[in-house]
Amino acid sequence: MKNKQTIFKLIVIMLIAVSLLLVGCGNTSQGGGSTGGNGSSSSTGSNTGSSDSTPIEPPVEIPANVTHTSWKILKGKITETTVHKYVTDKPGPKIVIVGGIHGDEDAGWTAALRLVNTISQEKGICGEILLIPQANILADNALVRYNVKGMGVTFSDLNRSFEVGRESTAKSATIEISDALVETIDEFIGDYQIEEDYDLCIIDLHESRGSYTEGTAAKGFLGDQLICKNNPFFMEDLLDHYNSNYRELGDPDFRTEESVTDGSFSLNFSTKYRKATVFTIETNRGYKNGTNTIALEKRVSQQLNILQALFDLAWQRI
Ligand SMILES: [Zn+2]
Repeated sequence: MKNKQTIFKLIVIMLIAVSLLLVGCGNTSQGGGSTGGNGSSSSTGSNTGSSDSTPIEPPVEIPANVTHTSWKILKGKITETTVHKYVTDKPGPKIVIVGGIHGDEDAGWTAALRLVNTISQEKGICGEILLIPQANILADNALVRYNVKGMGVTFSDLNRSFEVGRESTAKSATIEISDALVETIDEFIGDYQIEEDYDLCIIDLHESRGSYTEGTAAKGFLGDQLICKNNPFFMEDLLDHYNSNYRELGDPDFRTEESVTDGSFSLNFSTKYRKATVFTIETNRGYKNGTNTIALEKRVSQQLNILQALFDLAWQRI
């Protein structure tokens, strides 16, 4: 009886000892894994430490920290407008977006204004962005192309007043706006070196009265096009991506057009930064009998979707 009790006690002690050893091995193994994980980057390190039974999670993308600053240009003047700059802590391209050069092309500057508060949260944002939503704010708020009456100042077409090919009739108040835009954008670009297609993108947001599908460019029907002088090869990639993945059912395919108007924002920057991707978005507002027949919301979403397609390529998020 006494022997049996002793043998039973011994078996119990042995079982406890063996189970303690097993638990101890588990701990040692886990500890070794996490130590190894600490040597690699934080996103992959947590995966390295997982045991076989834990499913492997995809690497977690750490969003960029974005610093948003804004300031006024043309300060104290009736043309004073706000510039926004977004600097991230991740390397990437420099992107310039300018809306509202023509005030009655309201989808462009409406889209740009929406970007002010959303662009920081864009997935995959990197590099730096300069955003000037309302370049010609007086005209924008009056919903006219450029000629705001009753201000005591005469304006000319801002998109014919930039230095390269400037109209001889350009007014000084308008040249003052174009000079301020150029100075601000040049300062943002600085001595930045362009190596790849997407390293420097400069985009102005416009609209046309009609679509290229309705008539010739000579009639002024530039809508549903991206106007780009320097980089048609890149533009084909962007158009393919937009037309395949963002274009809404029933909308025409966007296409590219290389002829750029004298005195325009686009010609100015295409000339100065020949390796940059400079293009003008022209949505179609379907202007007939004094009215836009295509809803503002539809045109704004076209503008924003083209920019989304650009961000996909420029930020390499697809
Ligand atoms: Zn325009």
